[in-house]
Amino acid sequence: MVRALLSLIASVMSLSVVAATIQGVRVHESPDATRVVFDTSAAVKYKSFTLEKPHRVVIDVSDSRLAKGLDIATVAEDLQRVEGLRGAPRGKAYRLVIDAKQRLKPSAFTLKPIAPYGHRLVVDLAAAKPKQQRKPAAEKPAPRPSNRNVVIVIDAGHGGEDPGALGSRSLQEKHLVLQIAKRTASAIDAKSGYKAVLTRTGDYYIAHRKRTAIAREARADLFVSLHADAFTSAAARGASVYTLSDRGATSETAKWLAERANQSDLLGGVGDVSLSDKDDVLAHVLLDLSMDGNRSYSIGAGQAVLDQMGKITRLHKKRVEQAAFLVLKSPDMPSILVETGFISNPQEARRLSQKDHQNKIARAIADGVDQYMRANPPPGTALAARRQELRHTIARGDTLSEIAARYGVSANALKRRNAIRGDKIRVGQVLFIPQQG
Ligand SMILES: [Zn+2]
Repeated sequence: MVRALLSLIASVMSLSVVAATIQGVRVHESPDATRVVFDTSAAVKYKSFTLEKPHRVVIDVSDSRLAKGLDIATVAEDLQRVEGLRGAPRGKAYRLVIDAKQRLKPSAFTLKPIAPYGHRLVVDLAAAKPKQQRKPAAEKPAPRPSNRNVVIVIDAGHGGEDPGALGSRSLQEKHLVLQIAKRTASAIDAKSGYKAVLTRTGDYYIAHRKRTAIAREARADLFVSLHADAFTSAAARGASVYTLSDRGATSETAKWLAERANQSDLLGGVGDVSLSDKDDVLAHVLLDLSMDGNRSYSIGAGQAVLDQMGKITRLHKKRVEQAAFLVLKSPDMPSILVETGFISNPQEARRLSQKDHQNKIARAIADGVDQYMRANPPPGTALAARRQELRHTIARGDTLSEIAARYGVSANALKRRNAIRGDKIRVGQVLFIPQQG
């Protein structure tokens, strides 16, 4: 049975390999690797190997030729790891040669068509690392400084060969969410006591697992993944916020979007990383152990963000929804996913691509996060310390204006915070000092 299935697969694969044309080439540079992508007119077979002195990566593409007029050399200008790109026919095959600046570890694979892209041959070129000594198994994380910043990791969905949703006017989700992510990071950094970290800063793909690994490395207090999706109906509109559910989606839209988002690794290409998850069992145990606390924190933060979003844009749902998004499956940190709107809706697509509206979204996310985090500051942060300090016990001779001046707040704000009418205070009374922005 298994053998029959295998031979069937083999025959289907060989049928799909026909003479192909290499029609285009582009490059995505990420901190870890340079990705060279060849657009091919059909699925191709290939062999790749490396040569030394000088370092080269060679890819022989079977039964292929280069499209007339395509200059593959031009994409290789000013690259971090690649000196040049050239090619020549070699029998029925076409040989591509990547001249490298250093020893590279190539990993090649093909990607199936996804609009706006067709068949692709992808070559990932990572710097070959010198053999590392094994790290001691249970390395203790370095202690964090006291009064540290709250770390918010902002994740722009998709990227590189995964365009995400496609909207009108050739709008691609990957570009839109990167712009919004950068603005959100600035809005968060502008608040005192916060530090924002971006998972990606350019047009390249990062696997879901790697996104959460970056957040873990940064020791995120909150992980915020940004999207702007499309729906089957152009009428769908409004922003939503999701947290992870392992029981099932709260709405049909949530279910549909999660299934779609989870295909991202297949679309974007994670190379030879297996998509079948060997760690699933372990991951599940961890999820069960630490998920509950993080789940309520995620929902709280998510709702605060959603409330702020509601002030500047239409909402798809007024409550935080739950769905099984892969990128939210990190047991050790609260995580939310923000759908900034639907780019399948023409009006919303137009607004989402406007700088002003992007800044409003960024501020709404930052304000929502800040509001929730101030009320629930992670231990050890400057935010937590500030919250503890902000009380004053009235001593003999204190006046409201004097106390206000001492803490750098207005007397009116002080009165409002403590519901004081007039100027009457009494010795021993505890005043809350309102926080500065
Ligand atoms: Zn998306």
